[in-house]
Amino acid sequence: MTRVSIERPKRLCLLGATGSIGRSTLDVVGRHPERFQVVALTGHTQAELLAEQCRRFRPEYVVVGDSATAALVRDRLRAASVATEVLSGREALVRVACLPDVDCVVAAIVGAAGLPATFAAVEAGKDILLANKESLVVAGELFMAAARRSGSQVLPVDSEHNAIFQCLPDGARGGLEQAGVTRLLLTASGGPFRTRPLMSFGSITPEEACAHPNWSMGRKISVDSATMMNKGLEVIEARWLFDAAPEAIQVVIHPQSVVHSLVQYRDGSVLAQLGNPDMRTPIANALAYPDRIEAGVASLDLFQIGKLDFERPDHARFPCLGLAYQALEAGQSAPAILNAANEVAVEAFLLGQISFVAIASLIRDVLDKRPGEFCGSIDALMEADRQAREAAWSWVRANGR
Ligand code: NAD
Ligand code: MG
Repeated sequence: MTRVSIERPKRLCLLGATGSIGRSTLDVVGRHPERFQVVALTGHTQAELLAEQCRRFRPEYVVVGDSATAALVRDRLRAASVATEVLSGREALVRVACLPDVDCVVAAIVGAAGLPATFAAVEAGKDILLANKESLVVAGELFMAAARRSGSQVLPVDSEHNAIFQCLPDGARGGLEQAGVTRLLLTASGGPFRTRPLMSFGSITPEEACAHPNWSMGRKISVDSATMMNKGLEVIEARWLFDAAPEAIQVVIHPQSVVHSLVQYRDGSVLAQLGNPDMRTPIANALAYPDRIEAGVASLDLFQIGKLDFERPDHARFPCLGLAYQALEAGQSAPAILNAANEVAVEAFLLGQISFVAIASLIRDVLDKRPGEFCGSIDALMEADRQAREAAWSWVRANGR
């Protein structure tokens, strides 16, 4: 008798389904209906898009930010005869991330707002596909300790960290030292202002800052890439994900965004992961790990690329990078404060309330006035986050335009 083993589909909860990462994730998932089943989707405000995603993927639950948006989604789903249950609010995010039916949570909410549900999923032992880097910036130590306790596997979706993960033997579970790793080399495109004359930084507009040369992303991370705070946040993310010493993480400017990051070994070898700048590659890698699945990404044409450039980062041009190293060095709640101040600064810049160069000034001032404190719980970190946001908004009121 022949035995046929049929693996059941991986059951997913997708936090932040309406965003750039969320939509790319559903694009990959939709190519493999036999492998993945969507149990829950969440989005903050986009009722029309969420209803459309529910029509296509038929999840059991959809979560939105408030009851008014929930009513809009409910109406649309009723009209389309879709039975998905509509929930709203922060507790509902935690609830769907921890459903017994869910194997794997894709964490793709932007900002510290993604932390509570992602952390709850880690504690519940779910596998995490982590795009929401701010979760690790705010709570890296508690997050990774909780993952070790619960057995939750944290797979990086951020392209650089996914590249490093791919260049490490079996994710270097025994630690970098044991794997013979001497350095993690995080590549950075340098964003839209790598060569713009510094004199003209004062007049940078939100549209210019959001026009990334290589990647298409949400507005917050696009501004973070323009200030290079994104790379600062990624240094902190790498520190916790791979248990790497800060001095073993080096940022390398690589304008083509083809080499997504590299790992240097004791014997002189340097392993890199290359690919077109399309987030569906790291998303597919994390979704199917350790398998490789089709992601809809065009294959890399090295002849068309022709050459790859590498430069040292210019800290005078990108002071946010230094601020992130400073917060990492200070430890405790300092990275949470850095992150909160940055989220407020980016929002104020996008609203036209502060200039591009004021983003770094605001963060520096908030960090300088608030010494990092020991925070032994997520609640304590969220309180540090709240206080830093309050300080950041008063900075905007005092110094904004
Ligand atoms: P985005 O702005 O396009 O989407 C954000 C998602 O979060 C949306 O679904 C939105 O509805 C939801 N959301 C926003 N505020 C919320 C709140 N308060 N509560 C609940 N949900 C909320 O952002 P993105 O570009 O997809 O980025 C998502 C995360 O992935 C970020 O942490 C970012 O740093 C990270 N990331 C993104 C990329 C990229 O290419 N876009 C690459 C690497 C890492
Ligand atoms: Mg990245």
